[in-house]
Amino acid sequence: MQKVTIIGHGPAGLTAAIYSARAGLEPLVLSSSAELGQLDQTTDVENFPGFPEGIMGPDIIVNMHKQAERFGAKFKASHVSEITGSGPYTLKTESGDIETETVIVATGAKPRRLGLESEQKYWGQGVTACAVCDGFFYKDLEIVVIGGGDSACEEAIYLTKFASKVTLIHRRDKLRASKVMADKVIAHPQVDILWNKNVKEILGNEDDGVTGAILTDSVTNEDSTLNFSGFFLSIGHLPNTDFLDGFLDRDEEGYVIVQSGSTKTSKEGIFSAGDLSDKVYRQAITAAGQGCMSAIDAERYIAEKE
Ligand code: NAP
Repeated sequence: MQKVTIIGHGPAGLTAAIYSARAGLEPLVLSSSAELGQLDQTTDVENFPGFPEGIMGPDIIVNMHKQAERFGAKFKASHVSEITGSGPYTLKTESGDIETETVIVATGAKPRRLGLESEQKYWGQGVTACAVCDGFFYKDLEIVVIGGGDSACEEAIYLTKFASKVTLIHRRDKLRASKVMADKVIAHPQVDILWNKNVKEILGNEDDGVTGAILTDSVTNEDSTLNFSGFFLSIGHLPNTDFLDGFLDRDEEGYVIVQSGSTKTSKEGIFSAGDLSDKVYRQAITAAGQGCMSAIDAERYIAEKE
């Protein structure tokens, strides 16, 4: 019987591992080897406190992993498909069941996709959801950013550092982004905005990858073709919580609901930390903070039971 099992190998899960390992709870950290977390797919991180020169996203993960290991955390690459029980709990994994007193769920979130076949076909060949990771590859090329939120605006402006031209494509005639961000992107001389446009198909070929897209105007229903080399998706995120369906309370978008000011979920002894229950801040440092909170919550829960 594990005292603490952590699902997730991002800043939330690894901070939970450091704290619960130092509390002598010998946590087991489970992660899906097939899917990299958001920090693992990032390059320079300049806003994580303690690194005045910045640090690479994957290096934060490696360092946190080593730190947790030093205090006795154990790691296993194993995908959790289901949690059952009412305390203690059983985690169903491809390598067998794991019995545990408490669970810290820290499975994060992933970028939302449009769901087009051509999006999948050209993923990594011109279609990407990571401006920071891939912007560099589009030096002096034309690119588009899809979305109308703060992230899309921020990324469109960021990508002007590399691209010869950035076009922001939004499905409505008003940006969802905050006013200050919207004003900034609208005024930016290197960003064009196409309003009321939905992406019907991404165009490309095997040699060149993405070459453009067919766009449908949501007002006139007319199609048009736009040529470019890079397609940057920025239409929000989806929490990685499908495996919790029917087990933990989630909101209408699938985010795990936690009690205000804590990481307690709808089930006693199950805690949630990081982007799967945070659609407001979504930062590595806030995820790490929630990871710390979840370890303290789990430790207190175990102490009370004993
Ligand atoms: P978001 O605010 O949910 O915006 C997503 C955008 O994508 C919306 O404009 C939405 O269009 C569009 N969209 C969604 N599904 C689409 C689809 N299938 N096809 C086309 N467009 C689609 O997501 P976000 O920009 O990632 O921001 C998430 C949160 O982080 C927000 O609270 C945001 O304020 C915050 N954030 C803050 C900062 C900052 O303060 N510097 C930076 C980044 C993010 P509609 O508008 O039509 O719904």
